[in-house]
Amino acid sequence: MNYSYLKRDCWLEIDLDLLRGNFMAMKNMVGPNIKVMPAVKANAYSHGIVACGKELEACGADYLGLGNIDEAIMLRENGVKMPLLIFAGNLIAEVADLYIKYNLIPTVFTYEHAKAISDAAKEPHPIFIKMDCGRGRLGVDAEDFPALFARIATLPNVRVEGVYSHMCAVNWPDKASTEYGEWQYKRFSSALAAIGPAAEKIPFRQLANTPASIALPELRMTGICPGRAIWGFSPLEKREGHPELKMPMVAWKSRLLHVHDVIGGKFGEGGKAKRLDTPLRIGVMAGGVSDGISTKQEHGSVLVCGKRVPVASAICLEHTILDLTNCPEAKPGDEVVIFGRQGTEEISMDEVRKFWEKDLMSFWTAITPHVQRVYLRDGKPCAVTSGDRLEEIK
Ligand SMILES: *Cc1c(COP(=O)(O)O)cnc(C)c1O
Repeated sequence: MNYSYLKRDCWLEIDLDLLRGNFMAMKNMVGPNIKVMPAVKANAYSHGIVACGKELEACGADYLGLGNIDEAIMLRENGVKMPLLIFAGNLIAEVADLYIKYNLIPTVFTYEHAKAISDAAKEPHPIFIKMDCGRGRLGVDAEDFPALFARIATLPNVRVEGVYSHMCAVNWPDKASTEYGEWQYKRFSSALAAIGPAAEKIPFRQLANTPASIALPELRMTGICPGRAIWGFSPLEKREGHPELKMPMVAWKSRLLHVHDVIGGKFGEGGKAKRLDTPLRIGVMAGGVSDGISTKQEHGSVLVCGKRVPVASAICLEHTILDLTNCPEAKPGDEVVIFGRQGTEEISMDEVRKFWEKDLMSFWTAITPHVQRVYLRDGKPCAVTSGDRLEEIK
């Protein structure tokens, strides 16, 4: 193996073929007439915005939904031309010029937002209006949407290209009380009905997230916005009609930087310094707390030489110390698996996540950007992140 594309020996492996498979599963499920806007907020749920954004553009996604203008600018600087929506991450008036300069679609829910964009634009700029229909978070109250829409229609340099909402509490219809979901849908559709034929002229009308777009086909309207499904997860029970999804984040790996026998270190109770009567063979791997490894991992294990090996002491900021007593053949440069496969052994992401007591979103987004993301195509490394940059691997 040649690792010369790594600048630091701690990396995530992300399979772009599986990412494409998830997108296509959702696209095939809804059919050609419904647009798909994958949610790629939070650095593509930590998978890396540039490589994943480019892949989803190549797959034929209609829009991407981002949480952050900086990540949208990175996509533009990497040649992504497709429409990009910013969910809501700023007070729009303060950065209206960036929306125009980089051709980004803002999420507006006040007249002032829309006016700031109209004032900054030289020609009608696309905007999405967000409604709150029961999530209790961002958006204009559904009942106030018609009045807001009428005021925005008087502005010369905005064009309402989308109207959307974020549903909550969605499940298979037989699994839960459908009352809350129906209430949200009713608020959304009544708000649209109240503006009459103008509603039909808004191309993107969307309120379905991952579970709604799978479980409630009648809510797909003209578009869906799946987040978790794109990254291989759905909260629904798997049954007939559920698309097949696989997690593209297939492994988190590191390498041994140093292997030696030590006669002292932080091997005591609670990480206290302690002299040892007999030497302990340790391996030091790249990757610690600053990479997103939980301090709970001090009682965890990893794979080295195809075997489970325990962590020997408290997790450092940049390193983890392994107890190689049962793996004397290990040497510097050997691969370490935090989750993933090695030979016939496997530590699953789920096992690590549960051991660290994290929900999936916290687990993914805790993995910091200085863990390099290595992208696989046909099972082989094809690109790698290095800081903000994405570098091809020849
Ligand atoms: C994150 C997000 C989604 C995706 O939600 P999932 O349930 O994970 O599919 C949809 N809409 C908005 C506005 C979001 O922020």
